[in-house]
Amino acid sequence: MSQKDFYEVLGVSKTSNDDEIKKAYRKLAKQYHPDVSTEKNAEEKFKEVQQAYEVLSDADKRAAYDRFGHAGVDGSAGGGPGGFSDFGGFGDVSDIFEQFFGGGNRTKSSGPRKGEDIRLQMTILFEEACFGTTKEINITRDEECTRCGGSGAKSKSDISTCSRCNGRGIVNSVQQTILGKVQTQRECPDCNGTGKVIKQKCTECGGIGKKRQTSTLKINIPEGIDDGQQIRLSGKGNAGGNGGPTGDLYVFFKVTPDDFFVRDGSDIYCELPINFSQAALGAELEIPTIHGKVKLTIPTGTQSQTKFKLKNKGIKNLRTGSLGDQFVIIKVISPKNLSAKQKALFEELATIEDNSDNIFEKIKGVFKRFKDK
Ligand SMILES: [Zn+2]
Ligand SMILES: [Zn+2]
Repeated sequence: MSQKDFYEVLGVSKTSNDDEIKKAYRKLAKQYHPDVSTEKNAEEKFKEVQQAYEVLSDADKRAAYDRFGHAGVDGSAGGGPGGFSDFGGFGDVSDIFEQFFGGGNRTKSSGPRKGEDIRLQMTILFEEACFGTTKEINITRDEECTRCGGSGAKSKSDISTCSRCNGRGIVNSVQQTILGKVQTQRECPDCNGTGKVIKQKCTECGGIGKKRQTSTLKINIPEGIDDGQQIRLSGKGNAGGNGGPTGDLYVFFKVTPDDFFVRDGSDIYCELPINFSQAALGAELEIPTIHGKVKLTIPTGTQSQTKFKLKNKGIKNLRTGSLGDQFVIIKVISPKNLSAKQKALFEELATIEDNSDNIFEKIKGVFKRFKDK
């Protein structure tokens, strides 16, 4: 959807001051207010005007808009989900119309309303995140009344079309305002805009059509979900109003870190301690992976921090379905409490290394250069 330029919408120049913007807004808002206007696209135009004013009347938002256009104010101007469908969202706008209509409440659209979304956080173990799992949770939410199926009536025969509005949910009336006589449309007071009248209310929900209750919900956690990610369960939120759809349930995951495995996306890292002899002579070792044990051959002369890759031993990528890898990082451990025999062997080794090993030639060279300083 391409959006119109906010300055154009209000018919003001880019250099207009706050007063000029406010004046233009008031004029257009009066012209297009859906309760007053007879123009065809009044409601749409009114929303445009509102949106433009919302941005241009706020110094920060206006500056962002001047610099980045609509992209700079997206989200802030929309007021979140639902955007501008709800006139009640703008304090100063309703204030102005309260002056016109003597405080007459401009009610929300009486049509079907989507139920509110629910957000919750769930903590799961590292292995549960790796392979997915099923969890049961108790959730308290508005659920459609099972007795009346959301209609709010005791029985079907208790529902009839509202005679005052003929089922339209809206009534016309002429009001005397500071603008003169205006024909206004407002929500039908007999049926509260639903277009229906209920003779006998449902005894279970008292006519609301929904009930607050706690129920158990099974949640399938997908394989490979990561800390901070979320899933959406469509239609598992709060029941809607006037036959509107049920909201959604969002579950945010917190994954408990593992002692041994460290996750990075689909890859797993682990540190593998080996001793001097294994590092020097090489070894064949069993490495734990989330998919079970794997043999890893450490070649002779392996240094600390050497990284080995175990292909496809990582976690499944949620989007691509491919497996990550596991990386094993070697940590050579110096022995701390030597037995007499070990000590003797190391001492013997040391004498040999002194004579034959030239790994430390470079260091010796440094010693020589700085001998007398
Ligand atoms: Zn009911
Ligand atoms: Zn009515």
